[in-house]
Amino acid sequence: MFVRVIVDAPLAQPLEYLLPAGGDPREEATVVGRCCTVPLGRRRVVGVIVETCATPNIATDRVRALDAVLHDVAPLPPLWLELTRFAADYYQHAWGEVAIGALPPQLRVPPGPRFVAALNKLRVRATTATGQASARCELNAEQAAAAQAIAAARHFATFVLFGVTGSGKTEVYLEAIARRLAADPAAQALLLVPEINLTPQLEQRLQARFPGEMLVSLHSALPAGQRTAGWLAAHEGRARIVLGTRLAVFAPLPRLALVVVDEEHDPSFKAGDGVRYSARDLAIKRAQLADVPVVLGSATPALETWFHAAAGKYALLRLRTRPLDAPRPSAASGAPADWPQVSCVDLRQHPPAHGLCAPVAQAVRETLARGEQTLVFINRRGYAPVLACEACGWLSTCPRCATFAAFHKPDRTLRCHHCGWQASLPRACPTCGNQDLAAVGHGTQRVEETLQMLEPAARILRIDRDSTRRKGTAAQAFEAVHAGDVDILVGTQMISKGHDFRRVSLVVVLNADAQLVSHDFRAPERLFSTLVQVAGRAGRSGLASRVLVQTRYPRHPLFAALARYDFEGFATDQLAERRAARLPPFVGQALLTAQARSMDSALSFLAAARALPAADGLRRFDPVPMPLARLAGVHRAQLLAEADTRAELQAGVSRWLHEVRDLASRTRPRPRWQIEVDPAEI
Ligand SMILES: [Zn+2]
Ligand SMILES: [Zn+2]
Repeated sequence: MFVRVIVDAPLAQPLEYLLPAGGDPREEATVVGRCCTVPLGRRRVVGVIVETCATPNIATDRVRALDAVLHDVAPLPPLWLELTRFAADYYQHAWGEVAIGALPPQLRVPPGPRFVAALNKLRVRATTATGQASARCELNAEQAAAAQAIAAARHFATFVLFGVTGSGKTEVYLEAIARRLAADPAAQALLLVPEINLTPQLEQRLQARFPGEMLVSLHSALPAGQRTAGWLAAHEGRARIVLGTRLAVFAPLPRLALVVVDEEHDPSFKAGDGVRYSARDLAIKRAQLADVPVVLGSATPALETWFHAAAGKYALLRLRTRPLDAPRPSAASGAPADWPQVSCVDLRQHPPAHGLCAPVAQAVRETLARGEQTLVFINRRGYAPVLACEACGWLSTCPRCATFAAFHKPDRTLRCHHCGWQASLPRACPTCGNQDLAAVGHGTQRVEETLQMLEPAARILRIDRDSTRRKGTAAQAFEAVHAGDVDILVGTQMISKGHDFRRVSLVVVLNADAQLVSHDFRAPERLFSTLVQVAGRAGRSGLASRVLVQTRYPRHPLFAALARYDFEGFATDQLAERRAARLPPFVGQALLTAQARSMDSALSFLAAARALPAADGLRRFDPVPMPLARLAGVHRAQLLAEADTRAELQAGVSRWLHEVRDLASRTRPRPRWQIEVDPAEI
């Protein structure tokens, strides 16, 4: 008997091997989906058997024998094979690249002699968690109705659970999961979250809610053994709940009954390298293949998601009230009753001193005097984004990237936030010797310094990637905020996610303008979503609270929509703009990128690719340098392709890439290129 096997290599078709005779014939019938080891050139690699066949496509005497079938891992289920194959086709990669890449790292290499013993040890290790059962949270009417709708769905359906931070989306997920698990003693649920640091809190809640059920977490920061153990528990049906980041969308779950994607709008669901899949989109596909419901939860759904919800393709479930709301009716705009008062401070009327303008400094002082907490959000770490010589015009740049190097004051360094390059601060201007170098602009460190100067008695804490580099420091910092040991918290995006700060009554937003005037058409969507999240930190304990935004564009409609928490109005306007400009979701896009030693060769490769024949429905634009044109010494260019529908895009790009691969193999030096379908940034 012959078998077709997929391996981790850019091959258009599975490879064919001879399955050595002598095995149990009943086993031969169940080899499809099994992991195996096969010879590939001079190497031995791991593959997955996807098909058996009586006669191979290539000459029988050229077919090599398969090394070994891995009988100690159950065959991967047909739906898993279908999902990985779909992802490969959709994102324009080889099936084997996606499938092998979706296995835990320990299963991606040929097994050594002690492999089976190691597997068995891992099976024992993943045992049932013994959490302390918590009292079930009482659901309000909206939450109960939402959970009921999800639990009652007998087939594939996509639900959008739309509700502001604190409206109790998690309770709805838990209730829906509980009902699905209770209805079928073998059922499994998959819960995806955007960030690793959100898993511990959720893990605790799940354990408390489902004592005695096995829960596993899957994310890239786990030790290899733990990840394999969790994966096996999911695959073997022992784990009832799988909680994970985007890679968990590929966990094999033979009895999948419900899929939940929390914060579905979050950009981290899109993989940034390798196969650039969207875990949110694949989660929907996965639910469709398994014919089970999927829930997409968000306070600011992705515009693509909202588009389908508005069109009725997805079922919209709203949570309008927060559990803490007084029983008065919520505002007509849809904002919860305790939504903070949002106002803009016009930077043209109130020129800032050291980065803060007077009304903001005043508000911070008043909040402090009331014994309440302030949260200052600025999405830029470091002290200043650039250092300048006012004598000759020198600016600190990264020697390896086409970008500035930021000034970090605590350790007196210049650092590139893109490639990681760093150097100690020059004593004088490298060009003219002037010793008076000036920090231009503001980052978290500088804002912290300003606040300390204005409010010397205040307890100020900064949370960004630099301050939380050591393991555990982030958790400690958040604990200090919860305990009330902090008066003013300064931080980046890190402070906007999933943390519940009880005594915050003032939120200050600095530097939102950078995103307001960005060239990326998704920038307003992201900014709105971030600001809703940041604003949602305020007023959760019933304190009258406010959000102050320092901006040059106080009349921008985005801020007015934020003030009313009018996501629907904002989304409707954005979608109208996208429709007029022919942007997603009204067209499908793919981005071909090239990296080379010079910009000329990157651009000329893309120009040659553009000249290749392609389907009529595929429009290809001129190649241009990427927004970050040089990264770590490599020049980068991009070419945008689009089509009116995703189907046309997929077919068109697939045929075109066939030609591009051929072109790349003929070009010297061999260019490096990638394709990204549904690119996150352009
Ligand atoms: Zn100079
Ligand atoms: Zn750099």
